[in-house]
Amino acid sequence: MKILLVNPEIPNTFWSYKKALQFIGKKASDPPLAMITVAALLPAAWQKRLIDMNVTQLKARDIEWADYVFIGGMNIQYESFKRVVAQCNEIGTTVVAGGPMCTCSSEEIEGVDHFVLNEAEITLPQFVDDLVAGTPKRVYASNEFPDIRNTPIPLWNLLDMKKYSSMDLQYSRGCPYDCEFCSITAMYGRKPRLKSPDQFVRELDSLYAAGWRGGVFIVDDNFIGNRRVLKEELLPSLIEWAKSHDHPFEYITEASIELSDDEELMGLMVEAGFRMVFVGIETPEEASLEECSKNQNRRRDLLKSVRIMQRRGLNILGGFIVGFDHDGPATFNKQIQFIQQSGITTAMVGILNALPLTRLADRLKHEGRLVDSWNGNNVDSSLNFIPRMGSEALVDGYKSILRTIYSQKAYFERIVTFLKEYRKPEKAGRKVGMREIKAFLRALFHLGLLEKGRWYFWKLMAHVLRNYPGSFPFAMDLAIRGFHYRKVAASIT
Ligand code: SF4
Repeated sequence: MKILLVNPEIPNTFWSYKKALQFIGKKASDPPLAMITVAALLPAAWQKRLIDMNVTQLKARDIEWADYVFIGGMNIQYESFKRVVAQCNEIGTTVVAGGPMCTCSSEEIEGVDHFVLNEAEITLPQFVDDLVAGTPKRVYASNEFPDIRNTPIPLWNLLDMKKYSSMDLQYSRGCPYDCEFCSITAMYGRKPRLKSPDQFVRELDSLYAAGWRGGVFIVDDNFIGNRRVLKEELLPSLIEWAKSHDHPFEYITEASIELSDDEELMGLMVEAGFRMVFVGIETPEEASLEECSKNQNRRRDLLKSVRIMQRRGLNILGGFIVGFDHDGPATFNKQIQFIQQSGITTAMVGILNALPLTRLADRLKHEGRLVDSWNGNNVDSSLNFIPRMGSEALVDGYKSILRTIYSQKAYFERIVTFLKEYRKPEKAGRKVGMREIKAFLRALFHLGLLEKGRWYFWKLMAHVLRNYPGSFPFAMDLAIRGFHYRKVAASIT
């Protein structure tokens, strides 16, 4: 059996880092972890190839080679997904599709021969058994949540690792919270399911043995869903592993804001090698936080929480949303002020999006405010609901945030604010090698010579060299990321 796994293209958004990756000679930030895990769930004797369209072009002869094309992805990949399915249909190769987008919206997707929905650990073996028996059904779905302690190690050998700036791993699925706009709990449940520390260490070993060194994104929905197990079991194992391997990996993950309340947990994470954490801050508007049930963010000084984590050695990336019913004309400026004061350089601001399966989509449908369109991109100004403040006011306000926070002046000011708070961990930062030197020279050329407003770049360099010389490579990294954010923001506004 010949299986071609295809990861559709992700358009250029804040998360794609396309413009920043050019500086370090990489094609994509993250590999398709789900695809190489699905590959590991398939019979070992089957032939498997992966085309990640974010790093390699998909050709007709790749599709012709395969008996089956397996395709998946998130909503944001929908346009590319449709094109691939149409191409397979034209060539006559059977299409098998799964992943979060299909799980949420399989009825709206055309051209797929077999849907393998929900979590593949349950539905994929059923499909494979039926396929081998010659009786495959059209749809495989399940209401159960699998025990991920049985999930196999991803097949790293399907990837061309050189093309990525980071590798991905997953430790847990699910989140104990239930934010109204989020589809995580509907898809993965509210009880975090964890891998065992031994199993996770085996995954680290496999990644290390495959030759990877550098950034590793632990792509959990909420890494701190079970803090006791983290503190007592996983993090001590990761610390020991890092020491015995000379700290080869630096981790980024996603966590809820109460991480800032737990001094011990932050300390262990930093010691294990965690350097960046994405936190859903959403909004400084208390009434909007209440509206969306973001209860962990309510009745707290959000700025203080961010600073506590920065002082502990964590670079905080923030998720922000505008468009709640309780947002008003003043909200946009409040968001700008908060983002500037927080020193959060990577502020992922999006317009509220009613994803399928969410409580928000149900409510808006009930209120007659759901618009029948979705493309999974919440940063391109498209709306799939009727906002209380009016569509024009929301889109204008959203664009004004992007224009302001990603202007060179505001962005470089945030780097300075951040460095003032940040306490660099002892082992932080990769050794400077040829890749970093090349990136620095490209940054000098593009940010220091070509770009309008290059004065802000030189001012930042001088400031960092004078006050934080040890953080210079880190500041350059942030400056390069800023170049990408500016380009994406400009394309939207
Ligand atoms: S905390 Fe994050 S992952 Fe959990 S429900 Fe809220 S938005 Fe979703």
